[in-house]
Amino acid sequence: MTARILVVDDILANVRLLEAKLSAEYFEVVTAMNGVDALEAVQRAKPDIVLLDVMMPGIDGIEVCRRLKADPATQHIPVIMVTALDQLEDRVRGLEAGADDFLTKPVNDVALFCRIKSLVRLKMLSDELRARAESSQTMGLVVKAIPADSRPGNILVVDSRVAFIDRVRVALTGKHKVSAVIDPLEVIPSITESAAPYELVIVNLDAEQFDGLRLCSQLKSLEQARQIPILIVVAPDDEQRLMRALDMGVNDYLIRPIDRQELMARVNTQIRRARYAEQLRVSVQTSIEMAVTDALTGLYNRRYMETHLGHLVEHSINRGKPLSALAIDVDFFKPVNDTHGHDVGDKVLQELAGRIRENIRNVDMACRVGGEEFTIILPATELHLAQKIAERIRKSIAGKPFSAGPNGGSLNITVSVGLSTLIGANDKVEEFLKRADQALYIAKREGRNRVTHIAA
Ligand code: GH3
Ligand code: MG
Ligand code: MG
Repeated sequence: MTARILVVDDILANVRLLEAKLSAEYFEVVTAMNGVDALEAVQRAKPDIVLLDVMMPGIDGIEVCRRLKADPATQHIPVIMVTALDQLEDRVRGLEAGADDFLTKPVNDVALFCRIKSLVRLKMLSDELRARAESSQTMGLVVKAIPADSRPGNILVVDSRVAFIDRVRVALTGKHKVSAVIDPLEVIPSITESAAPYELVIVNLDAEQFDGLRLCSQLKSLEQARQIPILIVVAPDDEQRLMRALDMGVNDYLIRPIDRQELMARVNTQIRRARYAEQLRVSVQTSIEMAVTDALTGLYNRRYMETHLGHLVEHSINRGKPLSALAIDVDFFKPVNDTHGHDVGDKVLQELAGRIRENIRNVDMACRVGGEEFTIILPATELHLAQKIAERIRKSIAGKPFSAGPNGGSLNITVSVGLSTLIGANDKVEEFLKRADQALYIAKREGRNRVTHIAA
């Protein structure tokens, strides 16, 4: 993972130290030594993360953060405030200004890289979502921008001590929903059976009654839990177990005693990240569906059919299985549009697609290949069965008026159907489809509203 990091501090030695640590890990570093330069550097260098010292003359870190978070062009850039250990009120002000997390001076390496890693991941996910939203808008699709998500997170806390659980609950109260489990054996059932999925698990690594590290490892290897971020709480001297936990994929940590502001910041980051990842998954799924389906009818589009039919034909030939195709064309559809308008025509096509869908199996592939033309591929279906199916579809269309007419009126619609089946091991996709088209042509010529097949 690499990223561009803006380091802001008014003391040169501090800037140099952070710059050296980050460069050694192959991060690209940009620096600034006061608030004005920092704001300018954000515009110019477009960093992925800003590490911001609080105390600076002139515009201080809190104000820089506030301005970055108030500007729509920069508000998605994560900001880590670097605070002195004894200045707790800085953290409160930092959070209020929109800071995403904190680091305490002197900056510890584990903390530095852990914070950066988790915020860079967050930034990458939000960049990806923003890019998708932008390109969809360019393509004229309506896609929601990333919503400012203030829904409470659903969090599970695991520790054998009620006092710990209460402390977490109090710190997150009013912002998140906290459930608790005391018995480690109940963690996995509680996750798999929860009505609303958990978005974060907080584990006390030195729980008295169980091995917190083992629990983390179980969660990270369990299919249903792997995606849920884990935040652990560790004792200050427990660096070894902390490293083991981070290695196994635990997402972030807090050192005891728990600082409320840190807890809130880390919880918020993990929950946002989980939500971005989920949005991205849905968005990818939707674009895959959009790429293969016809927007008007929801049937597959021509491109999908063209990419898959070759495999289907090959598969059927290799296994000696039958395969049939129906070419369907709406009869006298132009007059429907001319008389009632294009919108009515569209509704007819939608209703027609519904009737087709009701009469085929899940394995069949129904495609809208042109304006009022459909092709249905019927795997493992020989001629006589295909004829029955074609007849059933034809009747389901001709047999009942369409409700799409103007002012709720009904319309009589019929279709003509051409049928073909695969013949022999040397048959070709194009020939197979062409025979269906030729049969359709004959069905039209012989009077429409019928199913025709050309005997090979
Ligand atoms: P036939 O097939 O029985 O010979 O007559 P037809 O009138 O259906 O044939 P033709 O191919 O001449 O006309 C097809 C019409 O389908 C042309 C156009 O008005 C209509 N059409 C094509 N695509 C769409 C569409 O997406 N929406 C609507 N509403 N109409 C469409
Ligand atoms: Mg037609
Ligand atoms: Mg046509």
